[in-house]
Amino acid sequence: MRNDMLPSHHRALVRDGHRLPVETLVPTLAPGPEDVLVRVRAAGVCGTDLQILRGLRNDPADILGHEALGEVITAGAWEDGPRPGDTVAFNPTHPGDPGRLLGHTLPGVFQQYVRVPRADVEAGMLVPVEAGLDPRLGALAEPLSAVLYSGELLRQAVLPESVALFGAGTVGLLHLVCLRRAGVRRVFLVHPREERLAWLVSRGQVAPAEAVSALDAPAEHLLRETGGVGVDAAVICTPRTGSLAALGEAVRAVRPGGCIDLLGGFPADAGLEALPGVDLAEIRRANECGQPSPGRLFPVRTAKERPLVLTGHRGAAARHLREAVSLLRSAPGAFAWLVTHVVSPDVAARALRLHAGTGAHRFEGEEWLKMVIDFERGAGFLARSPLGAGGGA
Ligand SMILES: [Zn+2]
Repeated sequence: MRNDMLPSHHRALVRDGHRLPVETLVPTLAPGPEDVLVRVRAAGVCGTDLQILRGLRNDPADILGHEALGEVITAGAWEDGPRPGDTVAFNPTHPGDPGRLLGHTLPGVFQQYVRVPRADVEAGMLVPVEAGLDPRLGALAEPLSAVLYSGELLRQAVLPESVALFGAGTVGLLHLVCLRRAGVRRVFLVHPREERLAWLVSRGQVAPAEAVSALDAPAEHLLRETGGVGVDAAVICTPRTGSLAALGEAVRAVRPGGCIDLLGGFPADAGLEALPGVDLAEIRRANECGQPSPGRLFPVRTAKERPLVLTGHRGAAARHLREAVSLLRSAPGAFAWLVTHVVSPDVAARALRLHAGTGAHRFEGEEWLKMVIDFERGAGFLARSPLGAGGGA
């Protein structure tokens, strides 16, 4: 598309300063000769977006959102650059510059058009992927890429037959689907909200014995269910506010020699008495955007002298995003149930304001897991589980 054929304005969810987002029209800035302009059809709302809106993180971007596929509309003419018509996945994390984070410090994908400078494209923040995936499912590609990275690191440490996932949000549940598909025999979900666990049990996604309340001595439950041995691995997929408590339980519930992956965020300078001398921030920084490969693992000893392997990571590599898209394309039915709401931008703004005010985990009568904003929809559009409710992972 020529620049003079671009719209003058496009739809966006904007939160001026630190206010809550409203749907509005923003000017579509003409891309410079080296910029890539990407059209976003559908974007996923992430737990971190909700944390920002609730004031639990103070990321400055006026336009949030980092989960989407897009179509290249105009591209700079450098060699190996993307071409108009290409399908691309946004990779929110800049591998060399933690200050450039899509939808956190840079304007995000809660808008119809995103302009990406050549330097960010070359750093890997736009990844060409297979075309043809339903863009609403495509909103799962970014969180799925983090889960694939996690699985890769876990399997370096141990080939698990039992895994405890702490946190039954989108990331935890994507992990559940992947571990089941990989043939892992027992996958436990540890979560603080009974309603979420009951919803998963009622949909046949998890057996009652594997739905574990985070509020009711989860480590004891996991030890009981594994004959006192403990699980082979645990993944911390909780929001930052719950990650230390979850890690404390995981340390008690993982068998000697087992592995814990720190997938979720941790508070700055966080440490744990049960893991003396262990620098959690260092472990999370050690693997970033797929580098190094193979990833770094950290053998540690607990305060009770039990050996464990810790690992952690930030972002994901282009290979994880490509693999995520191809997995979503080849097995859409395994993942479709995770998309609980597809909404127009105005309805998304209403949902986000509601969540910021009340912390609601349901929206319009349905458990709120992954909400996808469809920018092609007219005002007032809401579909619950439009891709299928799923009947077992
Ligand atoms: Zn996310």
